[in-house]
Formats: sequence, C-alpha cells, structure tokens
Amino acid sequence: MFPYGRQTIDQDDIDSVVETLRGDFLTTGPKITEFEEVLCEKTGAPYAVACGNGTLALHLAAIAAGISGGDSVIVPSLTFLATANAVRYCGADVIFADVDPETGLMRAHDLESAIKNAKGKKIKAVMPVHLTGQCVNLREIKKVADQHDIKVIADGAHVLGAEIYGEKIGACKDAMMTTYSFHPVKTIAMGEGGAVTTHDEKLAEKMRNLRSHGMEKRPDIGPWAYDMNELGYNYRVTDFQCALGISQMKKLDDFVARRRELADLYDSLLADLAPAVLPPMRRDYCTSAWHLYAPRFDFEVLSLSRADLMTGLMEKGIGTQVHYIPVHTQPYYKNLYGEIDLPGAQTYYEHTLSLPLYPALKDEDVEYIVQTLKEVVA
Ligand SMILES: *Cc1c(COP(=O)(O)O)cnc(C)c1O
Repeated sequence: MFPYGRQTIDQDDIDSVVETLRGDFLTTGPKITEFEEVLCEKTGAPYAVACGNGTLALHLAAIAAGISGGDSVIVPSLTFLATANAVRYCGADVIFADVDPETGLMRAHDLESAIKNAKGKKIKAVMPVHLTGQCVNLREIKKVADQHDIKVIADGAHVLGAEIYGEKIGACKDAMMTTYSFHPVKTIAMGEGGAVTTHDEKLAEKMRNLRSHGMEKRPDIGPWAYDMNELGYNYRVTDFQCALGISQMKKLDDFVARRRELADLYDSLLADLAPAVLPPMRRDYCTSAWHLYAPRFDFEVLSLSRADLMTGLMEKGIGTQVHYIPVHTQPYYKNLYGEIDLPGAQTYYEHTLSLPLYPALKDEDVEYIVQTLKEVVA
C-alpha cells in the first residue's frame, strides 16, 4: 500500500527519542531550544518558537500579530482548514481570497480583489499559503499588503526545505512570521509539532510567553516570580518530540532532494498523458520542497470521475488525496459568511489529486504508480 504521504523513521530517530525519555526533561527542557536552533539554521530565520502543532503555530502567530475580535484577516480559500480556523480562534473574521487556478497559490491580484471586496472592514493581516511546497510570490504580496498596512503571516506547513528568491524560506523578510507543521505527512515528522519563525525578536519572545500561559519571568522580584500580562495557553511541545525533530532535521536536505528527484521522475513519466494530465506548475522564484505531488487532471477529457480514479488506484494499493476542498465552501464558513464565488479555488480543487510522494518511495514504485494510473484512465 502506498499512502499519499508518510514519515520516514530510522533507528537513529528512535534512539534519540528513547535517550530523551531516559533523561531529566520530558517537557520544557533543553531539547526545545536545541530544536529551535536547528530550525533557525535550516530555515535561515533568526528566531524560532516551537509549539504543539502547526495549528497552534498559526494561532500563536495570529495573536502575536495583534489579531483580535473586530479584525479581519485575508486567507486563501485553497488551504487546510487550520489557516482559517486560527483566525476564528482570535475572534476575528476570515475574508477568503481566490487563488491561481493552475497552482492553487494566492497571487498579489487575488489579495487586491479581496481587499477591494472588503470595504469598511479592518483588515489586520493576510495569511498566504505556500501550497504543496511551492511558494507564493511573497515579494508581490508584501507590496500590496504594505500599501494597505496589512501584516503578512505565511503558512509554511508545506514548505520546510524550500527556497524562495534563492534564499531559505525563513530568511525571506517579506513575511513577518512563517509557521510550520511537523505532522507525519509533512517534510519532517514529530508526531505532532509546529513552529513559527520570525526576524523580530520581540515577536519571538511574545510567542514564547504565549505558549506557556503568558508567563513572563520577573527575576528582579525573585527567582519564583512571574507576571501574566496577557492571556496565554499551554501550547508547548515535549522534549521527546523535539528530540525526534532534531534527528529528522539532520535528514531534511536528503528528504527534500529525494522528493525533488521523485517529482522530476513523475513529471517525465506522466508527460505522454498531457494535456489530460499535466504536471504541477513550477515557479521560477521558488525551489519547491515538494510536500505534495499534485498534477492537474482533466477528468472530462479522461471521461472518468475523480472518485472512480481514486477508487481504481486504491484497489491497486495506491492512496491519493485531494488538497484541498476550498475552505469557504465548508458548512461552518457558509453559515458565517454565506455563498462566495471564488472561481480560481473552485477550478483548482476540481482538477487536483495528490499522488504518493515521500522519501522512501523507490523509482520503481513511481513507475508502478504511473503505469497503474495509465491503466485506470485508459
Ligand atoms: C498541516 C497543515 C496545517 C496544520 O498543521 P498541524 O500540525 O496538523 O496542526 C496548517 N496549514 C496547512 C496548509 C497544513 O497543511
């Protein structure tokens, strides 16, 4: 069975977790800081704050950006639920933006349209999503955001290991903060895990406090003393999760290199199915981390429904998944904001299907997957 994504765990990963379990700290220990340092190195960001998962990372970033009740935040509709939900956790409203129908990425003019349609609302931030491991054009998005005094928080759950404008993803100053997830299907696995990177030391400090009940140490009063100035949470991650994360990070470059090889292989093997199946679009300003391999399918030309293709592949042991159902069409959001027309998101959604992609896949596995795909669509 080939799932659409999965973790790669070796003996050395297991050994580091076991070693930490035998140590003094299961949580709030030295592995957290060590993991944050490794993440800074791997993303090129000066500051990193680790937390329990990618959803909490988005929430921490949103609070740190000052998002609260009465504010609105622009979120592309083509993303995982968490990006929009984090805005709702702050009591703020989501304004859904459209995306490029070919890449699923939010463009600068999608942001401009969302701003235009939101007259009278207090737009505090935009949360562009680096979908599938490809990057949104942050530079162009930042330009528009700056004109309207809007903060940019990038959802980088898919993008650990990617490069944008020739730099590591966290080095890019066009995002005020970038969030990550270390869920097992993402580039590295921690079971559950997340983080925010930033160039702003104050924001990092604020998120560190927020992740632990908003407690700020007061050594001037005494070694026991702390102030709680702001409502925080327990959004911590454990030392043994971070031990796994540190061990996994050592392999990040190899993981991403293998993902890139597999994506190239898929591209070449799928070439003769064009134009009914087109490889994922690439962008010249971005070197993708290939979290997902999601070609564009023309199910009409194939005269086959997506459900039938998924079932046909599943019967041959090949797992696939749709990333994502446009969030504005979810009942919760429809109840809140009514029917919204976002044709780019809808078109991307109707044509996408993610094929298996993870470092442990062999070349012959990809050959089998593409061969089977060709048989099912024939
Ligand atoms: C996975 C994911 C998240 C949430 O991360 P968790 O660690 O699962 O909470 C947020 N945004 C996107 C785009 C994701 O894919």
